[in-house]
Amino acid sequence: MSTFPYSAAASDPRNLWHPCTQMQRLPAVPPLQIARGSGPWLIDAAGRRYYDAISSWWVNLFGHAHPGIGAALKDQLDTLEHVMLAGCVHRPAAELAERLSTLAGGALGHAFYASDGASAMEIALKMSFHYWRNRGQTQRRTFVRLRGGYHGETLGALAVTDVQIFRDVYAPLLAQSHVAMSPDARQAVPGETADGVAARALADLDALLAKHAGTVAAVVVEPLVQCAAGMAMHDAAYLRGLRALCDRHDVHLIADEIAVGCGRTGTFFAWEQAAAQGQPLVAAQRPDFVCLSKGITAGYLPLSVVLTRTAVYEAFLDDSVARGFLHSHSYTGNPLACRAALAALDLFERESVLEHNRERARWLQQAFAPLAADPRVEHARQRGLIWACDVREHWAGARFAERFHLAARERELLVRPIGNTVYLMPPYVFDADGARWLAERVADTLDAVCREGAVSDPEPSSHVA
Ligand SMILES: *Cc1c(COP(=O)(O)O)cnc(C)c1O
Repeated sequence: MSTFPYSAAASDPRNLWHPCTQMQRLPAVPPLQIARGSGPWLIDAAGRRYYDAISSWWVNLFGHAHPGIGAALKDQLDTLEHVMLAGCVHRPAAELAERLSTLAGGALGHAFYASDGASAMEIALKMSFHYWRNRGQTQRRTFVRLRGGYHGETLGALAVTDVQIFRDVYAPLLAQSHVAMSPDARQAVPGETADGVAARALADLDALLAKHAGTVAAVVVEPLVQCAAGMAMHDAAYLRGLRALCDRHDVHLIADEIAVGCGRTGTFFAWEQAAAQGQPLVAAQRPDFVCLSKGITAGYLPLSVVLTRTAVYEAFLDDSVARGFLHSHSYTGNPLACRAALAALDLFERESVLEHNRERARWLQQAFAPLAADPRVEHARQRGLIWACDVREHWAGARFAERFHLAARERELLVRPIGNTVYLMPPYVFDADGARWLAERVADTLDAVCREGAVSDPEPSSHVA
């Protein structure tokens, strides 16, 4: 008996418990029954198509069923599907580590693999704590998170996550961390610029680090865009200041580039934009840890990686086994996943993706300019290939995110607003016409949703991504 596509008679959709979903809403928001993908399109079992304008939760880079990545994976499938990475090494894992080191300017030449974003965060947190311990500083055992920060939902990652809907229920289980002001530019007071907000956030962090001197292991940040917080964007000056503060207070800096890395914000690593105007980024200006996942395999397979400095790596070298970093996952460094990542890096090089993305960012900006000026929205903002705006409460109405998502589906568009924030994070495949098509469909959806919103009674919107 087939359970796909779902048919009421033959199967029970409740067998499958969906992530990040209140399952009671399943009848109201039935899952799209996706049969296949092609470029930016997802095609359902009935043959209807949807533009994947959020890159399937921010992982897809080059569209679905990309022939180049598919070919690399097919070759890898016939060569080596998996081998444990303790005591063994293979070409895809070794080559990927080397290429990532080069991309990070040689400053972060040690790559530790895992399988998803949250586990990369766990690794960075454990490594930082263990580094200080190996150095005799056992009192450094807390972390600093930023207001609105999101780093994944396992207990360690959740301890430094500050999105209430994910965190609050589990708060009794979480390790202690301190929370510092977010540099979110939307907090600007009249007359204040984004770098003014950044300066205030840095002053707040400075005071926090002074207050907890000697007990903090690391500060955790999503450079340039706090995505799960609702695409909260900040000035790059914050990153420069953050590096200086971490140096001054002698704490590690962990850059979570799981969502913003891999070219999403205009540079391969978002952190590169911390460089002073026209200056190259020197090694000392980089973070101590960079976490990548999501787009690293172009959305093909689960893989994450933590890149770190030689100073960290060397603090684990010792005759004692226990001073080593004894962390592993069964699929650490999986050859198929690493091969997909290599194929993605090949595309970045061969097709000058970063260069083309600058043009795509302009198309996006131009196409969405009318919406940015729409009085129903505020805080229209963009970083590279992330565009977002907040729909004013008056127009949004109850259950805005859900209603917008459903109305967009009817217009061949797959989007999932966060609260009242409508955002796009499309794969790197659209042209000027594509950007205009997206903008038209978003505007059309907004019209439809605002028409109903004005009449429904105000009840808090869902804040689930
Ligand atoms: C998605 C995300 C994570 C968690 O990654 P998973 O693979 O979902 O565990 C961590 N940090 C950021 C910034 C993310 O966007």
